[in-house]
Parts: sequence; C-alpha cells; structure tokens
Amino acid sequence: MSKIEHIHCLIIGSGPAGYTAAIYAARADLKPVLYTGLTPGGQLTETTEVDNFPGYPKGITGPELMEDLKAQAERFGTQVRFGLVTKVELNSNPKRVWVDETIELTADTVIISTGASAKWLGLPNETRLRMNAGGVSACAVCDGFFFKGQEVAIVGAGDTAAEEATYLAKLCKKVYMIVRRSEMRASKAMQNRVLNTPNIEILWDSETQDILGKDTVEGAVVKNHKTGESRTLTITGFFVAIGHKPNTDIFKGQLDMDDMGYLQVVPGSSKTKIEGVFAVGDCFDKTYRQAVTAAGSGCMGALDAERWLATQPVH
Ligand code: NDP
Repeated sequence: MSKIEHIHCLIIGSGPAGYTAAIYAARADLKPVLYTGLTPGGQLTETTEVDNFPGYPKGITGPELMEDLKAQAERFGTQVRFGLVTKVELNSNPKRVWVDETIELTADTVIISTGASAKWLGLPNETRLRMNAGGVSACAVCDGFFFKGQEVAIVGAGDTAAEEATYLAKLCKKVYMIVRRSEMRASKAMQNRVLNTPNIEILWDSETQDILGKDTVEGAVVKNHKTGESRTLTITGFFVAIGHKPNTDIFKGQLDMDDMGYLQVVPGSSKTKIEGVFAVGDCFDKTYRQAVTAAGSGCMGALDAERWLATQPVH
C-alpha cells in the first residue's frame, strides 16, 4: 500500500476564498496544498467581466482574475492540485481526507473553501447563453451594469431575487420579475420595496418556458400557469435568482450547518466546531457572496489556521 501523504495545511476549493487563504498560508510558511475541485477557479470562471474586485481599475475577466489569484498563491509555494475531495474524517487527529475517492491524505489543519453553486432553471438555452456569456447571469451585482438602460427579467421570489430586482431597477429601464406562485417568499420589507418600484413588473404564477436569442438574450417566453397564456418578453438580460446550494455535502454529520447546508462558524471568525477546521467564502456565507468578501474571509481562515497551529504540539 502506498504511503499516506501528510499535509500541514490543506485547503479545499479554488475560488477567491481558497486562493486568498493559500496566499496567506504560504507566506506564513504553512506549506499549503490546495485541491481545486472540479471547477478550478470556482464560480468566477463562469462569469465574464469582473468590475468590482478592488485593484483592477479597468476590470478583468473572471477566468483571468482566478489565474492571477492562483499565480499569486503559487508564487509563495502553494501546491495547487486538480482533484475533488470526496470524503473527510475531520474529528480524527490528524484529519483524514480522500481525494477522487482514491488518494488518502492526512492534514494538521483544513481550510474549507468549497463555495456554493447557483441553482439554474435547467432550460437548454439558459445553459447555452450562460456558457457563451450571452446575457444569462445568476448575479445582478456582478453583471447588472452591462444592462444599463435596457430591459431585463429576473426569476425568483426570495430575498435574493427581491434585492437583485431592486438593484437592477436602479440601472435598467424595466425589470420583469417572474414569480412562480401568487406570493413571494421574500421578507415583507423586501416585497414592499419591489412592489413600490415603478419599473419592476411582477409576472405572478409564471414560469419561463424558453429564453430566446442566438448569441445574446433577445427575449423570454413566459407562461402564466393559471390562465394558460404565454407572453414573449423583449429583454437583453436574464437573471436567475432561485437560490444557491453550498457545496458542503461531504461535511454532513461532522460540521454544523443550517437547514440549507451553509456551514456554521463562530461569529467573527472562520472557526468551525472542530478544532483546526476553518470555513471561508460562500460555503458559509449566504449573505454577501462576493469575490472580495470571499477573499477577505479566506485571509481570516489562514490567520485562524496559523494561530491555531501555533498552539499545537506539532507544527
Ligand atoms: P430562497 O431559497 O429563499 O428563494 C428561492 C426563490 O426562488 C423562491 O421564491 C422560490 O420559489 C424560487 N424558485 C426556486 N426554484 C425555482 C424554479 N425552478 N423556478 C422558479 N422559481 C424558483 O433563496 P434566496 O437566494 O432568495 O435566499 C437564500 C437565503 O438567504 C434566505 O434565507 C434569504 O432570506 C437569505 N438572504 C437574505 C438577504 C438579506 O437579508 N438581505 C439577501 C439575500 C438572501 P418558491 O417561493 O415558490 O419556492
């Protein structure tokens, strides 16, 4: 049997949180090894322009930003490896981790930065236009700017959809909000904001049947399932805000999480309930979900890990 590799500081996930944790951990000589998961670079690799990450006055594409973060982490000695962590035993000492169901590792400390994945409607044209940067997005704060003065639609009726609809309404000429029931799930305060915004039109009891457009979004077909009527909206942007799913399934039963699967940390820190295990980025943060806040929490994770390791007999 091959020897089990021991890692001092293991980072799981390669979004802005993971790479920032790696930069700090490497500079603190924690010799981090980072496993990327199946989407190296995370959610930002699926976006186009990123205009709100500080330090890029001319903007940068999501994939380029992630390459820069990776290069910065590697510059200080982080080993970045492609692979998916499929199983963990975090309560053991050292912690045990399996990659791609075959490689077994042990680790003194683990920083979890597995992120979250936006949920999508699953329509073929939604996938096609999203992958081609054709105007389908799951982040109004990231992409709303590109639709200034235009007409867009947003699907969803939770707090995110309500917040993003009002955000878009400030930039866009008109926002159609497609709600599948005759009521919204969002808090009353958020609903009132939506209802009192004149350029938001709510399409109740409605489902998106198709998104139209060859290279970019040109419209959407929406059906009211109560009246049976279909309507074609002329829009250039299509936003989906039907929730995110944190990528935390492998930690079930070991770490505390809320009913949606977001990891729980000691407030104001990245500490989970297991000593030496830290959670950073979108896997625990359902409120902000921005690249820069994820990066900031990645920094916290590395500092917390470094301080924790300093209290341990072997480091
Ligand atoms: P939610 O799960 O709360 O809401 C998802 C919404 O999408 C629901 O209205 C749901 O409809 C709708 N939906 C789900 N699937 C589909 C589908 N296939 N087609 C059409 N509509 C669909 O997710 P959010 O991201 O809005 O919020 C996540 C959490 O974060 C919540 O706890 C929320 O309160 C919190 N949050 C808080 C904020 C704040 O306080 N400022 C801001 C943003 C989020 P239905 O209602 O019919 O199920």
